[in-house]
Amino acid sequence: MSVRVRFAPSPTGTLHVGSARTALFNWLYAKHHRGTFVLRIEDTDQKRSNPAFVEDILASLHYLGIVADEGPTFQSQRLALYRQHADQLIAQGKAKTEDGGVVFPVAPQTVTFRDLVHGDITVDTSLFEQLVLMKSDGLPTYNFACVVDDAAMQITHVIRGDDHIANTPKQLILYQALGLTPPAYAHIPLIVGSDRARLSKRTGATAVADYRDVGYLPEAFVNYLALLGWAPGGNRECIPPTEIVELFDVARVRKAAAQFDQQKLDWLNGQYIKQATVERLTDLFAERLIAKGLVSVTYDRAWLSRIAGLLRDRLKTLSQLEEEHRFLFVEPIEYEDEAVQQLLRRDGIAANLSALKDRLKQLGSFETPQVEQAARALIAQRGLGAKDLIHPTRVAVTGRAVSPPLFEVMSIVGQAKVIGRLEYAAAHLAG
Ligand code: GLU
Repeated sequence: MSVRVRFAPSPTGTLHVGSARTALFNWLYAKHHRGTFVLRIEDTDQKRSNPAFVEDILASLHYLGIVADEGPTFQSQRLALYRQHADQLIAQGKAKTEDGGVVFPVAPQTVTFRDLVHGDITVDTSLFEQLVLMKSDGLPTYNFACVVDDAAMQITHVIRGDDHIANTPKQLILYQALGLTPPAYAHIPLIVGSDRARLSKRTGATAVADYRDVGYLPEAFVNYLALLGWAPGGNRECIPPTEIVELFDVARVRKAAAQFDQQKLDWLNGQYIKQATVERLTDLFAERLIAKGLVSVTYDRAWLSRIAGLLRDRLKTLSQLEEEHRFLFVEPIEYEDEAVQQLLRRDGIAANLSALKDRLKQLGSFETPQVEQAARALIAQRGLGAKDLIHPTRVAVTGRAVSPPLFEVMSIVGQAKVIGRLEYAAAHLAG
């Protein structure tokens, strides 16, 4: 029987990291087994469901490259199916109407099921006297709709968060009553924050869309999510999604809660940025910079790809592009106070910057080697230490104490702007 799994989010909030990991494990399981991944939107809670959250969930899954083979199917459009199953149970005397809804009295028994992650789990059903199947507003409860749909959609494996373990015996009782065969279950561990409490906004972003916006490459984020609770063995960390599909096995999912580790995510993202082609990085940069109004849609592609080549080994997130390298895109630049105090406000600096500006004005070509040569000639002529010229020049040209290799940065910023910035720093900032 071929594998059929589903991801069944409730659109009552944005797609958060924990749900994304559940979606991913289902998708990986389906792809690994050449099975089918079904997307089902559980939108029967009319008060809390919101189409905007459906949009967010779909967009976030799209970003992660998690594509549904079937669906999205909306539970709100399948009410007749739930009604029909409830009527069947009423006709069989197994359920009854009560206060306008339908309830299912539970006979005391013990239910045991084999969880693919946790092993055997046994629950005493006298804990719940009856299950509500349909509410008085005509809408099904989660447990009932879930069973009807998992059966109708011929789901073979239910992979979901640990927080649903308590629902599983209730669902198994309903399968039994309906004469349907239940799927296999795998309950995957919670994700906790650095404080070991359930991941929350307090300890970092929780919405997948926030990670996308900060500039985590989809394959880095997918790689990271896959490692939250699962490992292929052999301490490997940087594993491209295509390979994860080959290696993934739900039996290797750990039982213990998985701790979200921002530094590891950043490191992984840096690895994937390094491996990205300059072409792709240029596209990603362009998209960001246009959205932030830092370059126009008619941006100079050759110029931007130089920047991509320059920064490829230096970024952990794409947002560092505009946060730490704004001086490449805006005029006038902003200056770090401390860098100005320590590196520009010293005797003789203004004269050095001015002399450098004069030399740079003479250059016919402003390629990196020519810029470097001009600076080195000045250093030699004035008997300076290299850093005595380079550090203040960096502050004058970038506004910052730290930057990518200075001569290349200057070449990219361009002759006219560099001269303007040196002039300004010499006249207004330097001692
Ligand atoms: N709508 C439920 C949730 O988002 C689905 C749980 C399940 O996978 O059965 O938690």
